[in-house]
Amino acid sequence: MHDLTEGVTRFRREAYPARAGLFAELASSHRPKTLFIGCSDARVVPELITQSEPGELFVIRTAGNLVPAYAPGPDGVAAGVEYAVAVLNVREIVVCGHSACGAMTALAEDHDLSGVPAVADWLRHADASRARTSGEAGPRLVDALVRENVRAQLANLATHPSVARALAAETVTLHGWVFDIRTGTVAELDATGRAAALTA
Ligand code: ZN
Repeated sequence: MHDLTEGVTRFRREAYPARAGLFAELASSHRPKTLFIGCSDARVVPELITQSEPGELFVIRTAGNLVPAYAPGPDGVAAGVEYAVAVLNVREIVVCGHSACGAMTALAEDHDLSGVPAVADWLRHADASRARTSGEAGPRLVDALVRENVRAQLANLATHPSVARALAAETVTLHGWVFDIRTGTVAELDATGRAAALTA
């Protein structure tokens, strides 16, 4: 906790004053343009990767950056998606997977998840991705699964009524990204699942 307190102190002393005008504006205005869906992994920090300021990204982070397909009933991820799309009117949705993802590695390597039943249940949302990458092996399987999983979440997103409406009205676009932790590069996936560097 000591480190966090120190961080807050530094934020109050340095980062906040440098953005005093921005925070004054944000105090009564919340208009992010992007819904960013990433993994909870501590190494994948949406604002850092995209160099975004407060107010720019509406962020949902889940284990394995999974977005279950729409189903009626209470669902925190679905509520976040709906709010971002139907109320905040975000223009872009990014689903970002990443290298060395613990969730995808557990699936690719068939880890024993009996001690973490909630994790095991949650990762079942990636069953279809796992099935589609069964031809791969070794470390390539994890990479393939990471990519396939991003594509599957884009498809799942489209089953959410708010997203389906926005797609039909062409007011939102969907993007699939993969962040490589070692090199800091971001690749965008095309419709066939091939990855191409987002920037030079
Ligand atoms: Zn992850």
